[in-house]
Amino acid sequence: MPINLNLELTDHCNIRCRMCSQSMRDEAHGVPHRFMAWETWRSCLRGLASYEDEVHLCPHWLGEPTIHPDFDRFVEYAFAVNRGNRLFREFKLHTNAVVFNEARARLLIRLANSPGQQADTFRFVHFSIDAFSPAVYADVKGADRGAKVNRNVERFLRLREQQGGRRPHATLAFVVQPGNAHEARAFRDHWLGVLTELGRPVAQSWDWPSTEMDTIYFRPLNCGDQAEADRLHARVCRELGIADAEGGERLRAAESF
Ligand code: SF4
Repeated sequence: MPINLNLELTDHCNIRCRMCSQSMRDEAHGVPHRFMAWETWRSCLRGLASYEDEVHLCPHWLGEPTIHPDFDRFVEYAFAVNRGNRLFREFKLHTNAVVFNEARARLLIRLANSPGQQADTFRFVHFSIDAFSPAVYADVKGADRGAKVNRNVERFLRLREQQGGRRPHATLAFVVQPGNAHEARAFRDHWLGVLTELGRPVAQSWDWPSTEMDTIYFRPLNCGDQAEADRLHARVCRELGIADAEGGERLRAAESF
């Protein structure tokens, strides 16, 4: 079994999603939020050389990694010292894509497709979007950044094609909740249209994103009333018709629970 290792570049976040406990507290780990130091990152990466098991690395846990002031330098360094996958076998990035300009997109695509590593080393970027319209984004994510995020993600997808890159795959994620459920279809149709125009195979998932292709991914909300959240998620996914026969059974069971 691989080791999934989260090296948290920061526990700060730049937005305040309704569904995230991170957005509701001033401290995540019992101390004020902070950014990882360069020496800590280098030392952690060096330490991976002694792991016998396969390491899957993610530079994120509770915060938004891309707001680290040296995010690009940190990630570029990690790939530079990982030649031959000697430190980590896989890498994945979770981001809200608020701070995700063209230079950053180009860098990540270049790193994902650079020689000297397994082709699927940089598995995917998980974009936490959760809305279609800017108004719903502002409501659900606590910041008026929806239009910017949509632009950033779409530019990344187009640059990936222009740079001829197969990797990283993109997960376009939508946590289904009362504030956004009514635009799940618009979200799905929009991103399906963009990816189809780019000629990419696309999975639509109610359960778990594909690691083999881009995925439009509808997740249930984690909350106090989980049965209610699961019912809403099941209804939305069933109406979108995105589950196979077995999945449809499970969604129907959740919906009627
Ligand atoms: S972007 Fe991520 S870390 Fe930030 S508030 Fe939203 S879910 Fe939480």
